[in-house]
Amino acid sequence: MGRLIRAISRDGGIVLCALDSTDMVEKARRIHSTTPTASAALGRMLTGASLMGCMLKNAGDSVTLRVNGGGLIGTVLAVSDYMGNARGYCSDPAADLPLNAETNKLNVGGAVGTDGYFGVIRDSGEGEPYSGQIPIVSGEIGEEITSYYARSEQIPTACALGVLVDTDGSIKKAGGYLLQLLPGALDEEIDALEQNISSAQSVTKLLDDGMSVQQIVNTVLSGFEPEILDDYNVSYLCSCSRERTERALISLGEKELLELIEEDGGAQIVCNFCRAEYDFSASQLKQLINNSTVDKPPLI
Ligand code: ZN
Repeated sequence: MGRLIRAISRDGGIVLCALDSTDMVEKARRIHSTTPTASAALGRMLTGASLMGCMLKNAGDSVTLRVNGGGLIGTVLAVSDYMGNARGYCSDPAADLPLNAETNKLNVGGAVGTDGYFGVIRDSGEGEPYSGQIPIVSGEIGEEITSYYARSEQIPTACALGVLVDTDGSIKKAGGYLLQLLPGALDEEIDALEQNISSAQSVTKLLDDGMSVQQIVNTVLSGFEPEILDDYNVSYLCSCSRERTERALISLGEKELLELIEEDGGAQIVCNFCRAEYDFSASQLKQLINNSTVDKPPLI
């Protein structure tokens, strides 16, 4: 279980979400067999989605992040519910690069690339989903989230994301925080906050030193007397099911389903997010066609 805390400064000017996503990112690594570079890229997207999910207002809301900068890893996508439970995938989990020579860190920006867009879709389950996108800044994901909020939602934001991969390829620590200024924040508050952020070490370093999420909140909001608004256990959670897979198959249409029956003698659908396999025999597919046509008027 990961831990996610949402806190607000005493005067109400700053909201902060902080997350230990180590277990979530490790589960993603096991499902997708990601290389260290891909673990870091997908892990940062999952952590970012979870933090943005926690900022959603209503039960049933979800947020989807998608990036493709033309790099080796292809598309990286992550979805979170409003309580920060996330799931995701990338096109090429085997993509790997040497460490970034400048920072000596996993080269997420290099793997993602910078020739493309970072997109956000917010879905409340009713009506048209909201979507916005920005050109990729560095491909490191944290900067994309910061830029997205500044450009698309005009909310001053700071976002720190990190994934620390162990020598055996497993996830040693992963986490991050998302901090937003609400209207009315004072200049001296912003200066103090910037001081806090620049003097704090990276989130993964803090977690690796044994700091709890609560202590990270207290460190980033030092001097602002943070009050806890939410304290969630979050995990890597997929919402797929046989029923949903049936609905997806039905939506392909009768012609497509008949082709599957004739050419493949059935279908196997693999969930992109958790790799669960759903097998459908020819007779089960025929049943789906029959069920889907029951309500339709006769063709005459
Ligand atoms: Zn699934």
